[in-house]
Amino acid sequence: MKNSLVAFILLSFVISYGQQSNIVDFQRVEALLVFNQLAVDSTTYNAYEVDFKILKETDSIFLDAVNMEFKHVALNNSAVIFKNDGEKLIVYSDFEAGEVSKLSFIFNNAPKKAMYFLGWENEGRNQIWTQGQGKYTSNWLPSIDDVNDKIEFDLKFVAPRQYEVISNGVLKSKTDNLGNILWEYDMQKPMSSYLVAVALGRYNSITEHSESGMPLQYFYYPEDSLKVEPTYRYSKRMFDFLEQEIGVNYPWQNYKQVPVHDFLYAGMENTGCTIFSDAYVVDEIGYNDRNYINVNAHELAHQWFGNLVTATSGEHHWLQEGFATYYALLAEKDIFGDNHYMFKLYESAVELGRQDIAGSGTSLLNPKSSSLTFYQRGAWVLHALRSLVGDTVFKKAVKNYLIKYQFSSVKTADFINEVEALYGTSLKTFVSVWIKQKEFPVDAAFGLLQNQSTFINEYLMVDCQAKSSKCSDYLKYYVSDEAKVKVISQMPELVTKDTFKHGFKVRQAISQYVTKIPKALKEDYETLLDDKSYVTIENALYNLWSSFPEDRAKYLSKTRNVIGFSDKNVRLLWIVLNLNTPFYQADNKQGLYEELLSYTNERYDANLRIKAFQYLDLMRSCDERCQINLDNAKTHHNWRLVKFSKELSQKLQNKE
Ligand SMILES: [Zn+2]
Repeated sequence: MKNSLVAFILLSFVISYGQQSNIVDFQRVEALLVFNQLAVDSTTYNAYEVDFKILKETDSIFLDAVNMEFKHVALNNSAVIFKNDGEKLIVYSDFEAGEVSKLSFIFNNAPKKAMYFLGWENEGRNQIWTQGQGKYTSNWLPSIDDVNDKIEFDLKFVAPRQYEVISNGVLKSKTDNLGNILWEYDMQKPMSSYLVAVALGRYNSITEHSESGMPLQYFYYPEDSLKVEPTYRYSKRMFDFLEQEIGVNYPWQNYKQVPVHDFLYAGMENTGCTIFSDAYVVDEIGYNDRNYINVNAHELAHQWFGNLVTATSGEHHWLQEGFATYYALLAEKDIFGDNHYMFKLYESAVELGRQDIAGSGTSLLNPKSSSLTFYQRGAWVLHALRSLVGDTVFKKAVKNYLIKYQFSSVKTADFINEVEALYGTSLKTFVSVWIKQKEFPVDAAFGLLQNQSTFINEYLMVDCQAKSSKCSDYLKYYVSDEAKVKVISQMPELVTKDTFKHGFKVRQAISQYVTKIPKALKEDYETLLDDKSYVTIENALYNLWSSFPEDRAKYLSKTRNVIGFSDKNVRLLWIVLNLNTPFYQADNKQGLYEELLSYTNERYDANLRIKAFQYLDLMRSCDERCQINLDNAKTHHNWRLVKFSKELSQKLQNKE
């Protein structure tokens, strides 16, 4: 999973330690879910069968099943005594060790989480999607909350014919079913229940094949055909790279990727079926600022690290997130080069160091660690380990580890043992410094970077905090763009007409740090409005509008057709600036206000709504209709929108 829309939120993982994985092994689930009325937040008359093997004599077994109703519960086709306690379905019988049985039933659900129903019918954008990690699949499908029982899930769905239904495994058939469509998916291998997924919505898709012949299917909204290439850019290349780099073939039958509205995270690595936030669906310009590449590679890497081998508990969570973060970095390095890779490691080392200074650092084995620790420190462990043991040992050890533990669960020692076996030397000190101790070994990390990268050495050397006389030279002569950005952030007053001649990143930094524009730079600054970056355009528009009141109409005319990202960042700013430019398009002010207000409505994405509320509050214009939408936002499934709306509501009340 990846949270990157808001950096490093503490993930509160509640890992459930199942009491019964040594008593019963659930092997195969076949379930049929019926989506008959999309406005209703439940599925009804679903059918379910599960095959299981008894490992140890017992008088009862259970499935996790939250807030469901059951009918026709049968064991090997005969009625059986059962109890539904609202959390579990418990079935009673004299189960003998070695016995292989089938449990079947009909169930209805009404999920409050883990499956989300987005009713946007008037926009043609109804969706249903699931999120099993951290939320539990058992909220919508009877399953096992314990990650250690791996099950083959073969799911079928009935849904209205205008929707695509996308789930784990191969689509075996798609047939007419009394005016609806029956979708039958088939998996071949077992996985933990948190990786089960389904997404329903209006989608088109294209498929290409990896070098190894694996189908890679990219879903997109019908109106987004021009965004397919920039959104999914490098997908095949990264897939081919990871298969080569990891040395173990992709372990599932196919790989599908599906964007959805208002997703809870950046992406989620459901087996063979990654679901990701449609904020990453970008056009050619949005690609430059905010692309899907890192999330794409991260979720793909999880198909091995997390899905094929799964951490037994929260203590070993880094075996998933650290590995996914590391392999995503390697995939990016293959595309963008060494300096990019080193710079990302540098940035995460700085953040990890800061986390320790703030007193919130933890051992990597602490299940309550921050995402920063699990993801970035985890990736650092692998970079440092590889630097120590060498490429050959590292790659062979990873391969051995994956093959030895495939389709089962792993602990940190399982991985370390594989490396030690090939390295021939104890890794006790390494493990204690890099993995176990509370502090991130920031000096050792910087030492590695400085040994390995002249680019990082230069970056560290270029420092204008103390405002030295060399600083204006740095902006003229050849140092990396990253170093120039650093100088601009520290001494924006050094920017000259020449500085505008540098590339994308440097120009973006000018738009970010040179906020009061000197007259001498006016002409050059105006060219930023033509850059292929929605971030640069948003910054530049605001700064130009503020610095040169006499030219406000000119800047507004130039940017009137720019929308920006899916949160309409440029459009919202444009509306607000227009409303504050009395002489410009005076007749249309009410219409623009109505447009801004409309973006607070529940039919829009959470990020867009938050931005619209913020601007309305800034202008002290959150009227009665705005406040109704604000109240309504408090019950959204997206916690960021909920938190925001509650805080803004409170603030508005205090003012009254
Ligand atoms: Zn992840």
